[in-house]
Amino acid sequence: MYEKVAHEKWSGRKLYHWLRFELNFKTKGNKNISLSNIYLILQNSFYYGTFEYPQGSGNWYQGKHEPLINKELFDLAQEQLKRDRIVRESREFAFTKLMKCGLCGSGISAEEKYKKLKNGSVNKYIYYGCARSRDRNCKCGYMREEAIISQLIRIVDKLDMNEIGLKKQFEEEVERYNHFQKTVLQMNGKGNEIQKSQQFDVKTYVKYILKEGKITEKRELLASLKSRLIFRNKKITLEKHETTIKNS
Ligand SMILES: [Zn+2]
Repeated sequence: MYEKVAHEKWSGRKLYHWLRFELNFKTKGNKNISLSNIYLILQNSFYYGTFEYPQGSGNWYQGKHEPLINKELFDLAQEQLKRDRIVRESREFAFTKLMKCGLCGSGISAEEKYKKLKNGSVNKYIYYGCARSRDRNCKCGYMREEAIISQLIRIVDKLDMNEIGLKKQFEEEVERYNHFQKTVLQMNGKGNEIQKSQQFDVKTYVKYILKEGKITEKRELLASLKSRLIFRNKKITLEKHETTIKNS
């Protein structure tokens, strides 16, 4: 179960469906497992040998039992759970919590603003800015969501696709789409009209998600980036960590 989360990047909910409906897993007393049970189990360090007693006291003990998993796997699973939580928590805005303020290091939060137009209708705008948890007077500035999307698309243009944790999943989706398109054209006797340029690639697909995807799809995409996004003075940049810098 830790392996599924740590290595296959399953969400808690996916794990829940698997345990409950595919394995028909029961807890003690022959009860169905609940989603919150799963989160509790996954976050319980008891399984790699240490436990806190009393709970919340900060006193940690090394248990005498044989650890079920190692600490490395446990930590990996925690990291994935954190990403899972970020994706779940904020469904109303696409880009909150996924970027950091480049001036003070706070998170980035969002706000809806409404503007009444002359013809009486109301337009909704989403603005992003520093949450100011670290610096109450941070002067980082604000950005409209549309501006963030167009900057992210420019970043994707130059991005090495290996930077995207969901690359493999996207490749499969793109392949499925291209295959679908080919099959439809062939069924209509237009098989010869397919050109390479009409075929999608992963980069195009990623840009499509940024523009047209659901909020959860956008969040999953950005949460899977291996480098962190920095928001600074109305500009978004990708903070490269050493391993991703290519020798050129
Ligand atoms: Zn700031």
